[in-house]
Amino acid sequence: MSTARTNIDFERSGRQLGFIDIAHSPHEDAWGATRIPIAVISNGKGPTAILQGGNHGDEYEGPITLGELIRELDPGLVSGRLIILPAINTPAVLAGRRTSPVDGLNLNRTFPGDPKGTITQQIAAYVTDVIFPLGDAYIDLHSGGSSLNILPSAIIEPAPDPLHHKRNMEAALAFDAPLTVVIDNLGEPRTSTAAAVRAGLTTLGTEMAGSGTVSIDALGICRRGVRNVLAHLGILAPTGKPPLAEARNLLRIPGRDGFVLATTDGVFEPFHALGAEVHAGDAAGRIHNLGDPSRGPEMLHYAADGIVYGRRQPGRVVAGNCCVTVAALYDETIQVATLAPTSLTRSLFSPSPACGRRWPKAG
Ligand code: CA
Repeated sequence: MSTARTNIDFERSGRQLGFIDIAHSPHEDAWGATRIPIAVISNGKGPTAILQGGNHGDEYEGPITLGELIRELDPGLVSGRLIILPAINTPAVLAGRRTSPVDGLNLNRTFPGDPKGTITQQIAAYVTDVIFPLGDAYIDLHSGGSSLNILPSAIIEPAPDPLHHKRNMEAALAFDAPLTVVIDNLGEPRTSTAAAVRAGLTTLGTEMAGSGTVSIDALGICRRGVRNVLAHLGILAPTGKPPLAEARNLLRIPGRDGFVLATTDGVFEPFHALGAEVHAGDAAGRIHNLGDPSRGPEMLHYAADGIVYGRRQPGRVVAGNCCVTVAALYDETIQVATLAPTSLTRSLFSPSPACGRRWPKAG
């Protein structure tokens, strides 16, 4: 049984802002708590959307967007309920780190969590056991973090059930990011989005730039995208703004072949900008050994066709670090099989450049 408690009444109308308190007893504070901010904005009948930021503490566009929503959204405009967790791994957010400074854990490799575990495991367990059962839809707002810069995109979490997968796809497309990418994290079951799919929720994520900074462009995309998804779910009125044409570029990370990993320690010199079209076998860059100029650099190569979707931010690498991520075109036959021709998705299957090679500019 969890010791976590909240002062929020999930059934009450209007705007509430409070905390989830998880009992924490470190050296400095015998009977205290880790306080995780939570807001509920509720009005009338309608679905419940769970909006989460700060899963990783060094990814800022999501928490900024959700903080604005908490302060500015008029509850009278809501049909249904928003449960907003803008800084879910609060210790990591306050430290500006991917992982928690309390227990060293990555929340997004901790689900479904453990109510008797460490603080990060208890956060995951609270989301799994208390928050997910209240929801119909779940948005987990990520960016690339300190180590990666990623093209701003909405992320489709694959679901084994075709109708559930279609719901996830349509919600991610409704976000209307410049790119929409299917990412299964190599089948990783411990992410929050994988857990949300197991809970039956309509689930989507984002990758909003990264590099440990706040991207002006990505923040704009994030603000607009969150409102677009809430309109798609019927919780907010439609914005009336036409979608971006580029949003019809549907991509996927092609498994392990999508990741170019460092083969030695040194400094990685990339050969291509974000958004560049690349091919399997092409040189991706090289790793220099700055301490021993007698040794030439070691070449790295792509293992998939696609575009440079994400790139490592720091120059220093050790063997095994992810230097580049490639996103490939999503298989159109899978799209046709799983998506009904709604107005939102019809353009995907038209003979237009929808699935052609109209890559976005590097950003
Ligand atoms: Ca992340």
